[in-house]
Amino acid sequence: MRKKIVAGNWKMNKTASETTELIDALKNQLNPSDVEVMIAPTFVNLQAAVKQTSDSHIEVIAQNMHQAQSGAYTGEIAADMLKDIGVQTVIIGHSERRAYFGETDAILAEKTKAALDNGLRVVFCFGEELADRQSEKHFELVASQLKNAFFALPSSDWNNIVLAYEPVRAIGTGETASPEQAQQIHYELRAFFASIDENIAQGLQILYGGSMNATNAEALLAQPDIDGGLIGGASLNADDFIKI
Ligand code: PEP
Repeated sequence: MRKKIVAGNWKMNKTASETTELIDALKNQLNPSDVEVMIAPTFVNLQAAVKQTSDSHIEVIAQNMHQAQSGAYTGEIAADMLKDIGVQTVIIGHSERRAYFGETDAILAEKTKAALDNGLRVVFCFGEELADRQSEKHFELVASQLKNAFFALPSSDWNNIVLAYEPVRAIGTGETASPEQAQQIHYELRAFFASIDENIAQGLQILYGGSMNATNAEALLAQPDIDGGLIGGASLNADDFIKI
């Protein structure tokens, strides 16, 4: 039985005091449940957030990392720095990293490998642009994103990868895929992995991302192949995130 994951990607939002405040609200109102709850504050607030959540079931995760182990990469953060402060999971391949910071499939393959080699779990984001959907090339595109990122890895590593399917047109726009549309592609993704390894495919947690909110979450999360959500905007508000 796959556990559901609800992960909040806070992006470049929330100062230190706002981070503390939002975590307090979540801790006060979130009841322990079978759902894995993750939040991804900015790098500068990660260590404090890890400490603040240590007595809760909220996992603090990172939004990104660099692929090198250390060195002259001004402004970057390495996997072992995350591990050292108690972070165990990192988001890789978010569409904003791809679009604004030039992260190619090749770079994301290196990042994924570096994260896994350092014992981090990866939430790997991928998804098509509107044009790919309109030309009905969306499945080809997402399959190639996945192949390029981690098909060179031993399939045993895939147990430490959570997938986050995020159609780019739905991120931050208020336009979600319909639950049926999202279910269809999640089903196809699982079948794609099953053609390689049935066991891994059945255990793979595949999250949906793209304008999930307190209103549409229930219908999306009720789909059999949607194992949770990666949530941007709605994760910045305690009440909305708790409802999801
Ligand atoms: C995201 O950025 O991963 C995301 C899903 O954002 P939003 O929920 O705001 O669409």
